[in-house]
Amino acid sequence: MSVCFILNPVAGRGKALGLEKTLMERAAVKFPGALFLRTESRGHAIRLAREQSTKHDTVIAVGGDGTIHEVVNGLMGGKAALGVVPVGTGNDLVNALNIPFEIDAALELISQNKPRPIDVGQVNERYFINGLGVGFDAWVVKKSFSIKKLRGNLVYLYAVLATLKSYSHSVLNVDIDGEKKQRRLFMLTVGNGPSLGGGFRLTPEARLNDNRFDICMIHQMPTMAVLRNLLRVYSGSHVKDPRVEMSRGQSLAISSDQPFAAHADGEELGYDLTVLNITIHSGALNVHCRY
Ligand SMILES: [Mg+2]
Repeated sequence: MSVCFILNPVAGRGKALGLEKTLMERAAVKFPGALFLRTESRGHAIRLAREQSTKHDTVIAVGGDGTIHEVVNGLMGGKAALGVVPVGTGNDLVNALNIPFEIDAALELISQNKPRPIDVGQVNERYFINGLGVGFDAWVVKKSFSIKKLRGNLVYLYAVLATLKSYSHSVLNVDIDGEKKQRRLFMLTVGNGPSLGGGFRLTPEARLNDNRFDICMIHQMPTMAVLRNLLRVYSGSHVKDPRVEMSRGQSLAISSDQPFAAHADGEELGYDLTVLNITIHSGALNVHCRY
């Protein structure tokens, strides 16, 4: 089995780089002759994965959800499977795929060579694997990049509270499989996996291989109600609130007269968007996972 590792040295706030030597030693036993590549900048993993996708059975992302996002974008349309050695701040996708966090266990899972087909989303020209967010949480993503002192899920929680102070709502036109709605929303989530942003179970019932997105639209509500629901999102019980509208679909068009913000897999899509076209590619990527 021919594999290539793509390691993002800044993933997990530098933790990935610290693991590199250990990883190379362990990988030498399971995957003799494996190629190791290091990313040098944002977007680099896309190019590396695309180049390597024709040369290897599996391309392994060493990083967090952001690194996986880039590797997925490089692998789509090719034949190589995705492997993951998790390191990072937000590991929602890793949790959903039930990929072990321990290096040896993660490598063992890949070496069993039984990748499974997982759905992949596409938004305009970009692919995403875990989820897409419009509105509030896109601003949270922006805020979280500026937080240097905290780690793990605390980063997101702090960013949520800081963003709440200055947030205004968007009126969005949402077309789900041809059914058109107009809503004033706090945020909209298109979930392939069940959680985003470090454990926020916005689409708790979402499955990664059922050829449809789970969609969560949170209507405008007072800040206190947002805070109450925020805690409920950790368990997924926010879906019972009448101001939370759940739906499912395979294709979405989101537009607005006012510019809006969005992220895909926690990576910025933009802050002055006017149209997003979103489709699902059923079982389009083989992933080494326990899903
Ligand atoms: Mg699904």
